[in-house]
Amino acid sequence: MREITNAPPTSTCPEPDVWTRLAAGLLSPAEAEPLAQHASTCNDCGPLLHQASLDFATDTTSEEDAFVSQLKSSRSGWQRNLALRMAEQSAPQASKPEPPKPKVPTPSRASVSWFPGWMRGAAPVAAVLLIAISFWFWTANSRALASTNMLIAQAYSEHRSLQMRLPGTNYAALRQQRGSTSSRLDLPSSLLEAEAQVQRHLNRNPDSPEWLHTNAKIQLLEGNDQAAIEALTKARSARPTDAAIALDLATAYSERAASTGDPTGDATALQLLNEILSRDPRNPVARFNRALVLERTQSYPQVIADWQQYIQLDPNSGWSIEAQQHLDDATRRLTGR
Ligand SMILES: [Zn+2]
Repeated sequence: MREITNAPPTSTCPEPDVWTRLAAGLLSPAEAEPLAQHASTCNDCGPLLHQASLDFATDTTSEEDAFVSQLKSSRSGWQRNLALRMAEQSAPQASKPEPPKPKVPTPSRASVSWFPGWMRGAAPVAAVLLIAISFWFWTANSRALASTNMLIAQAYSEHRSLQMRLPGTNYAALRQQRGSTSSRLDLPSSLLEAEAQVQRHLNRNPDSPEWLHTNAKIQLLEGNDQAAIEALTKARSARPTDAAIALDLATAYSERAASTGDPTGDATALQLLNEILSRDPRNPVARFNRALVLERTQSYPQVIADWQQYIQLDPNSGWSIEAQQHLDDATRRLTGR
């Protein structure tokens, strides 16, 4: 089986809009099949084909989940069948007469309901390939994202330079102020590796909200707040209800306010964090980060309330020890002791 994630990009990619036409069912099977095969080995076109297929499918989230868990349970069989069908498709067929009815593997019950309407009927073999390839790339992209985000979490923990929390990171003591590194050579190697991975994905797919978000976290850790704000604003326009994107956008605004002294960033950060907490009052990262923003605006009664609630939410971690120190400090400032 090919290792898709490491396949080199090729110079023979078709124009990007061809994937939309393929997903829309506007191509004949003879045109569709070589394209589907190309996408199955191309890291540039596979994600485009996946995105195009999502654009033409409706209401798929729960059914996608069911489909993916089904794939996981029968992965080897599915891969074998896909490879077999591809081999059949690529075999020379010029001398064969047109078969009256193409032999199509019957999809199992769980996957039938997933197929969007446009895929039923015409060119079912291409449809099966398309679905399979879409999920192949969907899982490859998810694995790549997970591995890059792990590197970023590692960099955050090994070298914590940010007072605010990023979702999905473990506790680490604050080590040094951000931006005090004089050279990129001082940045953690895990961060530089994550940066290279993100650049590769964004070169191919510059509008992907997931990769924009991942890139923004790197920019935040490197002290490039404006770049982080731009990437997160773009990601948020595609994923307006994603709390992790909104959280990190608040962090970027607040960090920019801290380094430039412009208080409007804190106001924007508070607005974002208030929105998250009104929907999800038990979000510990939003509670922690809002307490920090409020500290800078010196709203001590609110600061104290947030740290107290934080400690209730998360009583036994390094974060809660830090929260207790902030709570003691805010109490001293409020009472003047
Ligand atoms: Zn390609």
